[in-house]
Formats: sequence, C-alpha cells, structure tokens
Amino acid sequence: MGARKSTVTVSCKEPGCHESAFYEFDSQKDRHEFTARYKAWQCVRHSMKDRVVTPERTRVEWTSQAVRQESYGKFSGHHGILIGGSAYYAEMKDFPVGTIFKITCEAIMPERNGGSDE
Ligand SMILES: [Zn+2]
Repeated sequence: MGARKSTVTVSCKEPGCHESAFYEFDSQKDRHEFTARYKAWQCVRHSMKDRVVTPERTRVEWTSQAVRQESYGKFSGHHGILIGGSAYYAEMKDFPVGTIFKITCEAIMPERNGGSDE
C-alpha cells in the first residue's frame, strides 16, 4: 500500500575524511535514484573546495556570471535569483569562539552610458 520508507548513510569518498550524512527516503524508487546518483558522495568541504572558509583560508570570494537578458527574463548563469549560499561554506567547529564572519556582496554594474539596458 503505502511506500516503504528507507534510509541511507553515506560517507565522504575523500581519503581520510570522516564526514557522513544520513538521508531518509519516502520510497525505494527515491532511494535507488539517490544511490545511483551519489555513488561517490562527498561532504560539502570536499565537493565545494573553492567555497570553504577555514582558519587557514579566511576569505572566500565568488563572482557570479554577468546578468544576461533572455526573451523570458534576466539570468546570471541559469538562475534568475542569486542567494548567498552560492558563495561560501564554513563549519563552525573549525573556528574559535568569538570568530566573526563578514559576508560581502557587491553588485558591479556595467557602465550606464553607451550600454544597453533593456
Ligand atoms: Zn569530506
């Protein structure tokens, strides 16, 4: 009758890494799709190396693609919306108490004169 729930625990494939994650699925189909896609699961620290803030690398900068106009809207990359999660990742356990994270976002727009804007 109802779909059978199941769980999967995956471990990061990076040698020496002990991170793991636990997933719960509403159906066996969802579970099979997940395990087929994530055979070689990596934790965020290892799958997004360029975005991880660490005590040794305290500043991460990320630059989006330029906004482009399509007939159906404006996009940067394939997104119509950008959210901060694209830019950095930090695990609090890596940092001492009192650490402050300063997150900056700056829109660098093309010159207005001579440029085409809609
Ligand atoms: Zn890892």
